[in-house]
Amino acid sequence: MKIKSAEFVISNQDVNKCPSNNLPEYAFIGRSNVGKSSLINMLTDRKSLAKTSGRPGKTQLINHFIINNNWYLVDLPGYGYTRVSKSSKKIFQKFITSYFKQRKQLVSAFVLIDIRHKPQPLDLKFMEWLSEHIIPFSIVFTKADKLKPKAVGNHIQDYKAVLLETWEEMPNFFITSSSKIIGKDELLNYIENTNMEVKDQF
Ligand code: GDP
Repeated sequence: MKIKSAEFVISNQDVNKCPSNNLPEYAFIGRSNVGKSSLINMLTDRKSLAKTSGRPGKTQLINHFIINNNWYLVDLPGYGYTRVSKSSKKIFQKFITSYFKQRKQLVSAFVLIDIRHKPQPLDLKFMEWLSEHIIPFSIVFTKADKLKPKAVGNHIQDYKAVLLETWEEMPNFFITSSSKIIGKDELLNYIENTNMEVKDQF
């Protein structure tokens, strides 16, 4: 897929205030600092469409961007940030879960995982929550440039082994690097193909 246009539409904390038009939508989520903003900027060929985080956890908003005037890319807040107050953490969790439960236009989520890290309970829990709520998702491993190619393969195998202790199969996954532009075409082609598959619903 070629990106012809990518524009910011709206930010809010209320799923009911998200854009009401019926376009397929893909949500990007992961722990703070996982490389989500960099990935979104890589995918859209923009330097700063998504703001790379100087202060993790600061912007807890659902951010809608419209791509090629025919699908939405949604930048969700990073989870796992501990320095927010208890009350703001609660709001964060509720509006995120409400978004996933209520957003009819959501076609699929992308759960970002730093490829260098061993499976983290919070990420595993979040993926379990998605599957319990029948929300399709893919894993996006980020920062692949930080490892040698062989280590990339080993880390994926290790991740898979842990997931398969509880999952029947490994979810669909992508290996990416925003610094080295890896995985961009694969992700965009996946979205393009999925848009074709779901076009009758929109
Ligand atoms: P976010 O908090 O998930 O939005 O993460 P950012 O995109 O702001 O990135 C967090 C940090 O990781 C920044 O210092 C980025 O420069 C760095 N980073 C993001 N993606 C990559 C990548 O693909 N490779 C490398 N080496 N660093 C990355």
